[in-house]
Amino acid sequence: MLPRSMLHSQRSLLLTLVILLGSGFLATSLLSYFASRDAIRESIVTTELPLTSDTLYSEIQKDLVRPVLIAAMMAQDRFVRDWAVAGEKDPQQMTHYLKEVMDHYGVFTSFFVSSQSLTYYQAKGVLKQIRPEEPRDAWYYRVRDMSAPYEINVDPDLANKDNLTFFINYKVFDHNDSLIGATGVGVTGDAVTKLIDRYQTRYQRSVYFVDPFGRLVLTGAQGGPQGARAGEVLRELPDFKDLLAQMPNPQSGSYRYELSGHAHFLNVQYIPEMNWYLFVDKREDGALGEIRQSLYANLSICLAVMVLMLVLLNRVIRRFQLRIEALAMVDSLTGLPNRRGFDRIALNAVTEARREHKALSAMLLDLDHFKRLNDTHGHLAGDEVLTGFADDVRRCLRGSDIICRWGGEEFIILLQDTNSSGARRVAEKIRLLAEQHTYVFTGSPLQVTVSLGLTELHPGDTLQSLIGRADQALYSAKQNGRNQVCTEMAEPA
Ligand code: GH3
Ligand code: MG
Ligand code: MG
Repeated sequence: MLPRSMLHSQRSLLLTLVILLGSGFLATSLLSYFASRDAIRESIVTTELPLTSDTLYSEIQKDLVRPVLIAAMMAQDRFVRDWAVAGEKDPQQMTHYLKEVMDHYGVFTSFFVSSQSLTYYQAKGVLKQIRPEEPRDAWYYRVRDMSAPYEINVDPDLANKDNLTFFINYKVFDHNDSLIGATGVGVTGDAVTKLIDRYQTRYQRSVYFVDPFGRLVLTGAQGGPQGARAGEVLRELPDFKDLLAQMPNPQSGSYRYELSGHAHFLNVQYIPEMNWYLFVDKREDGALGEIRQSLYANLSICLAVMVLMLVLLNRVIRRFQLRIEALAMVDSLTGLPNRRGFDRIALNAVTEARREHKALSAMLLDLDHFKRLNDTHGHLAGDEVLTGFADDVRRCLRGSDIICRWGGEEFIILLQDTNSSGARRVAEKIRLLAEQHTYVFTGSPLQVTVSLGLTELHPGDTLQSLIGRADQALYSAKQNGRNQVCTEMAEPA
């Protein structure tokens, strides 16, 4: 059994190691996690999202280039100009022309507005007269007065149940470069919606457009943030406060904000052609999922390594302890168990003999006049005799017998399953062997004799009482002249 203080120090050593290793592993794992997280955040905010916005922006522009070319072609068309200059006779010619453009190029709508008559021609016929005070006709007066040759305008289309339409409005000039009207085509927002959906699924981020008043104008099929639909205002969405605190009104830039307990990255880009803001939004969880996984993997590996190390360490410590324990119970000179070792085995032997009603004899041995031998030949010679004698005794015993160096030049033997007469034979053998053996130390012959006291275990005996009687027997052997065996019987009860 390990002493309590030893167990305590072993536990505190393991605990210290757990704390040291654990905090070391944890610190390095967390440090590398935070470093990669910051790097990923940085790259999302500074590179990834702006790049997506740019790509999306150019895709949208590309989708609008074809209609621009068609509108340019119409503005340059000889028929359009000649027909308008000639006084817009036979409107059917114009509507027929517009219908052809529509069918041929697959655009949603095509139109011509004459500055002369202020008539709005369309593929299906004459739509209406435009008027300066009508807000929906404001686009025409804007186009008329602008310096650029065309504009891209996003408007609800009056002729198309007010669905969102991208209009390319091109100025038309006569041969003297005077303005004679505006022509162009309209394409539906569907294409852009599909583009947004494609981007959202391909890049796992949400994309939507917001007007300068913070109103959602264009989203993918699933809607914008929190499923909001076009027409809803960001300011009125629940849980959007964190972003609004940073950006009360739409403004180009990069943002990081919280929405419903999740961190989001956001890039906002102003699109001048539409007077809209493009929002590209990415949830942090998705972006950091992989490195979070690797953090968990790291931590599990560290934990496994730690547990393995502790198990191994514990095993090594246990082995060393057992070794130390074993060494603590062995006498270094003779290699026999010492008194501490004897106590452990002897108690068991006595208990077993009593329980199983088996004989057990105890024998105490003391070398005679050993002090004299030491004094005459030196302490080292004494040691040599002690070792040789221990070997001799060992040779006279069986494997089940227990022998121990009791102290100095004294030994004790427990003979299991042996009564006093059997023990006496063994004792005599030992005595004779010692007497006849000449030990040699640095060439000098050394003689030694031994006195032995023996006794047998009796019911009611304890280990102490048994040894006590053997000691009395040894005393008698010394008293009677040494180099002999004396037996002490237990007093009858
Ligand atoms: P007796 O016959 O009465 O037993 O006489 P003794 O001289 O053997 O007894 P005593 O108890 O007077 O002396 C024992 C001696 O054993 C004294 C001590 O120096 C010696 N001794 C004890 N341990 C060792 C040891 O490890 N090595 C050596 N060399 N001598 C030892
Ligand atoms: Mg002695
Ligand atoms: Mg002695």
